Amino acid sequence: MTDTPALPAAVAEPCPHCGKPAALCVCDFVEPVETRVRLAILQHPQEQDVTLGSARLAVRHFVGGIFKVGLSWPSLSKAVGREVDVKRWAVMHLGSVDTEAFPPGRDLVVVDKDGKPVPDQAAALKGIEGVVAFDGSWSQAKTLWWRNPWVLKARRLVIRPAQPSLYGKLRKEPRREGLSTLEAVAFVISRLEGKPEIEKAMLSSFRRMLQRYRDSLPPPQEKSRKRRPGSPASAPSAAPASGPGSSGGGANT
Ligand SMILES: [Zn+2]
Repeated sequence: MTDTPALPAAVAEPCPHCGKPAALCVCDFVEPVETRVRLAILQHPQEQDVTLGSARLAVRHFVGGIFKVGLSWPSLSKAVGREVDVKRWAVMHLGSVDTEAFPPGRDLVVVDKDGKPVPDQAAALKGIEGVVAFDGSWSQAKTLWWRNPWVLKARRLVIRPAQPSLYGKLRKEPRREGLSTLEAVAFVISRLEGKPEIEKAMLSSFRRMLQRYRDSLPPPQEKSRKRRPGSPASAPSAAPASGPGSSGGGANT
C-alpha cells in the first residue's frame, strides 16, 4: 500500500542492506556506528514502501542494528535474537500524550501508560539499553503494539521534534510526531547516546535518499497539471532544478 508513484524501470537487484533499487541506495555513504543503545526496528509485513521507506536505511547506520519483518514475537528477546531485559528497553509510545505536560527543556520524555511524563525523567532515561520502533502506517504500528504485549513492560518514549519531517509532501506520514521511522529513531538514539552527530549523519543519508527519489521522478511538466487561466507560468516546483553532478541535494548540514 503506497501513495508513491512507481519508479521508471531500472529493476536491478535491490540493495541487500536497504532493500532499495540501486538508484535510491545511499548505503555507500553510510558509516555504521557502534552505540551503547541498541536499535531494533520491527516492520509490519504490509509496509511495502520500498522506495520511500526509511527503516532499513535507519538500521544500516548501527553496528548490530536489528531489522525484522513480522506481526508478533513471543518476547523482546525473541524479536532481537538474544536475551534482553524488556524493562531496560524503550518503545515509542503510540497512545495520546499531553505535550503541554512535557517537563520544560525536554524533547525526549518517558511517559506512563496514560501518556503522562513520569516524575523522574533522568532516572527513567538512564540505562536504556535499546529502543524498539515499529515501522508501518499508524494503524500497522498500532497492530504491532497490540500483537506484542511485552511492549507494555518496556519504557515508553515520546518525542517532541522541533523540525517537520524531511519527507515534506512526498508522503502523507501517518505517524503522530509526523516523522519517518528513520527520523524518529535518529532523534531518540542520538539523545540517549548524547551524540548529536548520529542524528546529523542519519538525516544526511535520508536527505540524500529523498533527493535521489525526487531526481528519479518524471519532470513535473509531464504530468497534466490543472492551471488557472491567467495565472503566472512560474509554477512552484517541488523538485529543485539539479545542476550537473548534483547528488544528495547539496545537503551538508
Ligand atoms: Zn542500500
